[in-house]
Amino acid sequence: MIIKGQATVVKHTGSHYLLSRLPQWELFPAVLRGKIRLKGSSATNPVAVGDIVDFEADITEEMSGPECLTLENPAVITAVHPRSNYIIRKSTNLSRQSHIIASNLDRAFLVVTLDFPQVKLPFLDRLLVTCEVYNVPPVIVLNKCDLYGPEYDQMRAAFHEIYEGAGYRIVEVSAHTGQGIDELRDMVSGSVSLFSGVSGVGKSSLIKALDPSLEPRVGDISDAHEQGRHTTTFYEMYQVRTGGFIVDTPGLRGFGLVDLKKEEIALYFPEMLKASEGCRFAPCTHTHEPGCAVKDAVENGVISYERYSSYLGMLDEEGKYR
Ligand code: GDP
Ligand code: ZN
Repeated sequence: MIIKGQATVVKHTGSHYLLSRLPQWELFPAVLRGKIRLKGSSATNPVAVGDIVDFEADITEEMSGPECLTLENPAVITAVHPRSNYIIRKSTNLSRQSHIIASNLDRAFLVVTLDFPQVKLPFLDRLLVTCEVYNVPPVIVLNKCDLYGPEYDQMRAAFHEIYEGAGYRIVEVSAHTGQGIDELRDMVSGSVSLFSGVSGVGKSSLIKALDPSLEPRVGDISDAHEQGRHTTTFYEMYQVRTGGFIVDTPGLRGFGLVDLKKEEIALYFPEMLKASEGCRFAPCTHTHEPGCAVKDAVENGVISYERYSSYLGMLDEEGKYR
């Protein structure tokens, strides 16, 4: 008997997909039938983790549902539902090819540390811009707070001022002491969250603190290695026991790269977008134009100099990644 249903893609192994009818967590294998291409997408993967798909399955009488399917008799993915959002990584800096990392995300946790390693603000700003472009609400997770004694007070206050001033939420946590982990767990519950951060910030430790049964993949997959071998990184969704699902992104340096025209970049700095309503010229690059409300806001301290300087850096680099 052929049955039809809807499920979410939770893993892609290269040869097949694993689906689950979320919030239920019972995985079953599926394959693609023919060519499924979303219109206008240049992505190398037509189906990504997080996608909601239609499937058909051949179920015998003894089977209680598609969850009993095996690799010998997998379900067949017949359609991909439109994505509410998705995050892409470029295959290489020069090629136009891209890989969809995950879709239908409720938020992205950007894990950073004030020290060990010290967060690079232009890099964080690039991730935030990417989230804005792809319409995935970001939350900044400041980890290793157990390490930041009074000598970090000033730095910590500055960090809060810059990013809360720009409208972002910061959660202070420690994977080691458990500080803030309940708050993180509450946010994760009932939703799909992406975890991103450079190697060493404690992303794996945080995921394990959320749910000790999880075994996040460790280590950074070097971009050079990947590009050289033309291999693809497969991303995966995990269930958190206390509720919710997470997608881990090991070695995700290309995540911060988006194709933006010069005049578009400021649209994705929310505080600059807001201030730019007062600019005399439109479009305004907020660099040399007279009567620029963004430059005024930087001078008055309404927009942080650090964010503005990241913006200028992105303007400078515009075109570099195409
Ligand atoms: P990842 O590369 O981001 O996945 O980082 P890991 O989870 O592997 O952690 C990198 C290092 O930071 C390890 O030595 C961890 O023990 C340490 N670490 C992770 N979280 C914390 C924390 O909250 N406090 C402290 N002091 N160290 C941490
Ligand atoms: Zn301006």
